[in-house]
Amino acid sequence: MVAIDAIIRSKRKTISLMISPQGKLIIKAPLNCPMDYITNVVNKRQDWIIKNQTKILQHTTLNQDIITYKKVMFLGKVYRLALADNIKKLTLYNDALYIPLKMPKNKIKPNIIKWYKQTAQNLANQRVSLYANIMHLIPKSVSINNTKTSWGLCNNKNEIKLNWRIAMLPPELIDYIAVHELAHLKEFNHSKKFWQIVISVLPQTQSYKKELKKGDYLLQLFRG
Ligand SMILES: [Zn+2]
Repeated sequence: MVAIDAIIRSKRKTISLMISPQGKLIIKAPLNCPMDYITNVVNKRQDWIIKNQTKILQHTTLNQDIITYKKVMFLGKVYRLALADNIKKLTLYNDALYIPLKMPKNKIKPNIIKWYKQTAQNLANQRVSLYANIMHLIPKSVSINNTKTSWGLCNNKNEIKLNWRIAMLPPELIDYIAVHELAHLKEFNHSKKFWQIVISVLPQTQSYKKELKKGDYLLQLFRG
């Protein structure tokens, strides 16, 4: 039997089950609905509840490892950090990012940042120029930046700047960010017309937006 974390009773006719973003099981039930009826419903939906709670738990643990720098995210995949004595620079191999054993401890983070930034600059150049061609647009320049709140920006001088943390994201989200900023060369706002341009290039824009929202915590990593 799974544990019920909260029952919210109201003037409703049916029972509904909900898993909160923290993995809690919340039941919405009619005012006079008997407890054993609720328990019965919960028992019947046990598989669904456990499946969803596990998903949330796994996600939270993963985020925790990323936030505490036990693991790093690179192009949407997770790598553990490990030491190796036969390498001179950071090396991605199988499921790990290997750090040279001799690298001083206080140099590890700056080197990881440098490694991300190089990748990010290359990706920004490649992906923005690819979509600039497709969309018949020419940005004045493409560079990387370090803002706390955004993945990318396009200013009124037609300069595109992408957060270096794009190197943590899956390729399709990097493309979405590139297309989003390029579309601002045509529409300097988030109007309906703007979104039409983005969607015409990337029909799956809505799901990309949702995915990207989940990655917002990455913007706070490697600061200070
Ligand atoms: Zn925008």
